Amino acid sequence: MRSGHNKKSEKDRLSSMLTQKGMRPTKQRLALASLLFGGRRESMHVTPEEVMKSVRKKKVNVSLATVYNCLNQFTESGLLCLVSIHPTCNYFDTNTAPHHHFLDSASGKLCDIPYESIHIGSMPSLPAGHKIQKIDVTIRLAKAA
Ligand SMILES: [Zn+2]
Repeated sequence: MRSGHNKKSEKDRLSSMLTQKGMRPTKQRLALASLLFGGRRESMHVTPEEVMKSVRKKKVNVSLATVYNCLNQFTESGLLCLVSIHPTCNYFDTNTAPHHHFLDSASGKLCDIPYESIHIGSMPSLPAGHKIQKIDVTIRLAKAA
């Protein structure tokens, strides 16, 4: 997935990525895919509202409901993962590899922490009939006094 910065092929690349995941490459989906997976490869943490604003700046008309639907479809197909900070604050993360986050409480911005840099020393015993789905740690930051 890391190949090339060829601008002309980007739309084709994104389009076939969507098709491979069983989604029709509509104008809206492509606009979202280009924002999230095009160009630079740094990971992004976005809220549906931010995505809607950015896509509208590119003159693609989308509703917040459509943005939510697309982001959820991308998540179900493994292109994004969901970071729930708070029941009313969900970030969609383009980094789908296991990792942790710093959360800047003042700005609400997330920043990746490599998975290996946190070691969990002890774990509670799990409720019967359950296994661990994943462990993601959020370290909440405040300005040092
Ligand atoms: Zn992340």
